[in-house]
Amino acid sequence: MKAIFLDRDGVINELIYYREQGVIDSPFTVEQFRLLPGVSEAIKKFREMDYKVVLVSNQPGIAKGHMSRQTFETITKKMEAELAKEGAFLDAEYYCFHHPEAKIKKLKANCECRKPKPGLLVKAAKDIDIDLSKSWMIGDGLTDVKAGKVAGTRTILLGRMKCELCRLMDEDDARPDAITSDLMETAQFILKQGGKHGDLH
Ligand SMILES: [Mg+2]
Ligand SMILES: [Zn+2]
Repeated sequence: MKAIFLDRDGVINELIYYREQGVIDSPFTVEQFRLLPGVSEAIKKFREMDYKVVLVSNQPGIAKGHMSRQTFETITKKMEAELAKEGAFLDAEYYCFHHPEAKIKKLKANCECRKPKPGLLVKAAKDIDIDLSKSWMIGDGLTDVKAGKVAGTRTILLGRMKCELCRLMDEDDARPDAITSDLMETAQFILKQGGKHGDLH
């Protein structure tokens, strides 16, 4: 099997700007969770191309005390329901709930699953029998690119490039194979690549 690994925040759903703290972060409430445009279409496209679509996401919000486990579960259900409404499904979801500075003791860890470490991808590959060399990691952060590269996938960085990122990408050995502006453009790109590499089937 080959897979498209998707980061969640900034790829599937909108990021939230918290004005008081001046930071951009994940949604912490169900109301804040909104799908980005074209995401369902892109996921359907990936599945048509015979990719498994696997979510791999750092979610330290519970560890940091931003939300309860219950809220996280409700957000997950909302995501799945909104995708399903448009006929899109994820094959699997893998989350890292840890954080090295966690307030919740149980979740305080320097784990192997928090991206940029490749643990989530490696576990998914084992569970679902995925050939990582035929797979792609798509995310809006260099931690996503790095996790994909270490795991052995090709990588795509989503987002409008800032020039500082170029330097960081080289310093951090996190240069993606491509940069696209949204998930649908990513799907088109991978469709073309599939032809070139002859690994569509
Ligand atoms: Mg992200
Ligand atoms: Zn972890």
